[in-house]
Amino acid sequence: MGKVLEKKRLDAFLRRVSRGADLIAPVKRDTLRFEVVRDYDDICLEGRPLFPIKKFFSPAKQDLFTLNLTKKKLFKEDEIKLKPRVIFGGRLCDFNGLLRLDKLFLSGEYQDDYYRLARENTLLLGINCDPPPSEYCFCESMDLERYYDLFFHDLGDKYYVEAGSAKGEALIMELEDYDFLIPPIRCEKKLDRKDLAKYYDDPAWEKENEKCLSCGKCTAHCTTCLCFDMIDELEPDMKRGKRYKEWDSCQFLNFTLVAGGFVFRKDRLTRFKHRIYHKLQYFRENFGVDMCTGCGRCIEACPRLIDFTEVINKFDQSRV
Ligand code: SF4
Ligand code: SF4
Repeated sequence: MGKVLEKKRLDAFLRRVSRGADLIAPVKRDTLRFEVVRDYDDICLEGRPLFPIKKFFSPAKQDLFTLNLTKKKLFKEDEIKLKPRVIFGGRLCDFNGLLRLDKLFLSGEYQDDYYRLARENTLLLGINCDPPPSEYCFCESMDLERYYDLFFHDLGDKYYVEAGSAKGEALIMELEDYDFLIPPIRCEKKLDRKDLAKYYDDPAWEKENEKCLSCGKCTAHCTTCLCFDMIDELEPDMKRGKRYKEWDSCQFLNFTLVAGGFVFRKDRLTRFKHRIYHKLQYFRENFGVDMCTGCGRCIEACPRLIDFTEVINKFDQSRV
């Protein structure tokens, strides 16, 4: 059983749970975006930001360490510090996106301490999608987990609030108990799941790819795309410098450029297919789950409205 919170008490509740932390929520500016909240009146839960929350876990550009040879210390790692954060207004696709990124950054031999710190210092307060906030959502097809610290269901003048973790439970202990049957998310858009390995050479990919500009908007807006490049930058005195990480995109020609000038995915079609196969095939082979969370952002953000779900849905199972 969950709890109930009157809407008029939401601000006070958020102030309490985010004391000493940054509150991040969808805020209406030129467009709706997740931002650190300065004024509670700016919080807007109508629709969902096109840009996901990943920038709060692995920013578009992030310094990793500095180099200072003048101080006889070869490398000095900057002390990693982070103010705690509370994200309010994320959706299930957003938070499931973090579970996918955990597999990349927090498993295996090489783990990302910056990402770990961000994950450990962030409370996740979600909001239900009833109805889904965008016509491009297809999360219902993607077997998402109910993953959050707290989850809010809009019931008109009040919220039904459920806890998904011990931390979340502690936050709502004082609220009144409330009984509510959680409705399933119903998306109009669907992805017909198939074994994509059988369709790699299907001409339908080529047809859709003809529209692609290789602009990388799809990967920039994707909830789970976080490929990056590592760059070393030296001052002209060759004694000081830094190493930083910067987002990259598999849709760019030089993404697979290696020493000697060889590019592994020279043509746009292989890059286009790589994006979809990574989301729905390769990641599953490695981690047992799809990388895509069905948020639909890559379709909504694409200047050519390229929609990989339509390509996949049209593949004829009986043909292979
Ligand atoms: S956003 Fe659209 S046009 Fe741009 S690279 Fe992605 S699929 Fe191609
Ligand atoms: S591939 Fe598209 S639908 Fe899937 S998580 Fe990324 S942006 Fe969302």
